Amino acid sequence: VIRVYCKTFKKDCNEDFGSLLVHRDITKEYEIAKTKSEIVSTVSHELRTPLASVLGFTELLLNKELKPERKTKYLQTIYNEAKRLTALINDFLDIQRMESGKQTYEKKFIDITSILQNVIELQKVNTSSHKIQFSVELEETIILGDRMKIEQVFTNLLNNAIKYSPKGGNIFIRVYGSEDMISIDVKDEGLGIPEDAIPHLFQQFYRVDNSDRRRIGGTGLGLAIVQEIVKAHGGVITVSSEYGKSSTFTTHFPHVMMKVNKQNDYGAAS
Ligand code: ADP
Repeated sequence: VIRVYCKTFKKDCNEDFGSLLVHRDITKEYEIAKTKSEIVSTVSHELRTPLASVLGFTELLLNKELKPERKTKYLQTIYNEAKRLTALINDFLDIQRMESGKQTYEKKFIDITSILQNVIELQKVNTSSHKIQFSVELEETIILGDRMKIEQVFTNLLNNAIKYSPKGGNIFIRVYGSEDMISIDVKDEGLGIPEDAIPHLFQQFYRVDNSDRRRIGGTGLGLAIVQEIVKAHGGVITVSSEYGKSSTFTTHFPHVMMKVNKQNDYGAAS
């Protein structure tokens, strides 16, 4: 984007004696302004949708004589939407804390398998729209990590797998690795990701803007948060996808081998 400034110089008698033309490349400013306004509109939309539900169902509850079952149904919707709003605001706060370096992690020895089981169970309570297949190929799956944050990583990845794939689809969660590394695949059979979008996926507020997913809500913060947490645990996240077919997000964490560190009868590590 080029902005052109033009100034014509005149002598006292109003006779032109020259013009100065200045070109300035404002592509960067233009991109930033465009991104900012896109962010504002995405965020407003994401906040407004659940709020509209809360208001609408509250009005119904206040103004109508309703059967108890209906009341419970409306209250459940209000509760779910309020939870969605809280999760959104927590995402914004997380991103801000991560950016300012104020995010703290309470690391302990935690078992990835049991964390994944919890995340999957919770997901099954909320929705039964997909078949989740879980396999573990390692005997021990311990890492040094913050339980809540690691749960957030897999909740975000599993939510995305569900959000961006058709109902009834399979989701495969596989734990494998070596003595040094634990890897976890979260694979879906969904929309996939265009190749040119892959380098941007972990940027804050980035969303793939294709007609096939325009109606799917989101802020573009989920993967940015996931990557920050994974990095803070000395891990990496990679993605591979076949556009239109499947996506696999793989996280790798340093493996803590508890058995290797146990003392044997002679006091040496076995
Ligand atoms: P959000 O889902 O809120 O848009 P994310 O940061 O979680 O934000 O994801 C960024 C983008 O990456 C999404 O907009 C979506 O287009 C794409 N994406 C993420 N996960 C998947 C997936 N499993 N399958 C297809 N596309 C995905």
